[in-house]
Amino acid sequence: MPRLLLATTNKGKAAEYRDLLKGLDFEIITLDQAGISSEADESYNTFEENARHKAAFYAELGGFLTLADDSGLEVDTLGGEPGVRSSRYAGDNATDRDRVDFLLNKLKGVPQPKRTARFRCIIAVAHPGGAVETAEGTCEGYIAMEPRGSNGFGYDPVFYLPEYGKTIAELSPEIKNRISHRGRAASLARDILTNAAKP
Ligand code: IMP
Repeated sequence: MPRLLLATTNKGKAAEYRDLLKGLDFEIITLDQAGISSEADESYNTFEENARHKAAFYAELGGFLTLADDSGLEVDTLGGEPGVRSSRYAGDNATDRDRVDFLLNKLKGVPQPKRTARFRCIIAVAHPGGAVETAEGTCEGYIAMEPRGSNGFGYDPVFYLPEYGKTIAELSPEIKNRISHRGRAASLARDILTNAAKP
């Protein structure tokens, strides 16, 4: 079976991808398993540039078909922040909880209807020494007034979905994967991967 390098060190994301890529004819390997410890530069200004760069960088290093992504949260009233800085919001050594608190503080006094936001995910699939293809998914919602729920990771406890009356952290992983930005991008990426596996 051909191998697919899953280029992420984020455990929450890796678990979601293992589920989202189920049934494809690939053996999924991690950066650890490929013996790769170098870190790709993620300092571009768009999700797409970061994802493309990451996938091409690790495909070149590992010699495998490689899937990388870049994702984050865009809050409208903050002009799209934290965006590509989602994982670094609140500083380098901050925890998920610190980032959530930092965000809630920035939104103090902003009423619920003005707290519109979306998660965005760009997946890039890179062939070693060759082309890079991308797929995009978004998930629209609101930033809640306070955190709720313990599933998922990152900003999930404050990302409220009115159609469920819940935050993403209160949803099961199965439902999150069906409706999330990553789930939507992954269902498009499955087609790219299926074509890549054809002889
Ligand atoms: P990346 O690893 O550079 O793509 O960072 C993405 C960051 O955006 C994560 O560390 C989270 O803070 C946030 N993020 C992306 N996807 C999700 C999600 O599905 N739930 C919650 N937070 C997310």
